Amino acid sequence: MARRKKIYEGKAKILYEGPEPGTIVQYFKDDATAFNAEKKAVIEGKGVLNNRLSEFFMTGLAQIGVPNHFIKRLNMREQLVRSVEIVPLEIIVRNYAAGTMSKRLGIEEGTQLPRPIVEYCYKDDALGDPLVTEEHIAAFGWASQQDMDDILSLALRVNDFLSGVMMAVGIRLVDFKIEVGRVFDGDFHRLIVADEISPDSCRLWDIDTGQKLDKDVFRRDLGDLKDAYTEVARRLGVMPKNAPPVTKPTLIN
Ligand code: 5GP
Repeated sequence: MARRKKIYEGKAKILYEGPEPGTIVQYFKDDATAFNAEKKAVIEGKGVLNNRLSEFFMTGLAQIGVPNHFIKRLNMREQLVRSVEIVPLEIIVRNYAAGTMSKRLGIEEGTQLPRPIVEYCYKDDALGDPLVTEEHIAAFGWASQQDMDDILSLALRVNDFLSGVMMAVGIRLVDFKIEVGRVFDGDFHRLIVADEISPDSCRLWDIDTGQKLDKDVFRRDLGDLKDAYTEVARRLGVMPKNAPPVTKPTLIN
């Protein structure tokens, strides 16, 4: 296969130019990072699981009318997605206190919040993705008021969908992060969900035992990350029983 043009390499994914204008190939790596890449490891098979899980969530979202970038899965580690202009924000939705919210506000992890709380962080690794307010977002022109209205609506719809899907398989959706991007139609643009939705970007706790089934397993050294993600995929019926093992090497380029 001809060598493809790499557009961007992030901590967990590589983006290549897609076969048609307006498309991108998103390759899921096995690399795991935490604490702004201060902690790193290669977890064999993680990319395969996240490729499948993100496909599963994005397909489900499209089915209920939540627009997103997913077009189709290409192979074990790659999916074809729409090219978007990423809004430089990490949009976090929280149903229960955990992580930085618990630290910042002194709320015990696992405390149910009175309602879903949406937070915005400015996407900048060098700054550690700092929490920002809508005042910052408006003043620095990262998103318009219309964009912010659309982002809030998308975030809450994703939350309702994911919470329900997870609840059905005995998993509590504690919080998650999404990213959104603009797709243009002449002078107009609309916002769609982009990047990925996977246990890398969600907190998922078993409803009965509280066992963590997300990237906190890696961040906090709580066991085998691949086992946790495999359990999520198994419960959702995402990895077919006779699928090749997730460790099977995949050739690219
Ligand atoms: P916290 O702010 O508590 O660290 O994270 C809140 C939620 O957003 C968690 O589910 C976490 O996994 C997700 N999240 C926050 N920042 C990032 C990030 O830079 N990358 C990924 N993959 N997820 C993030």
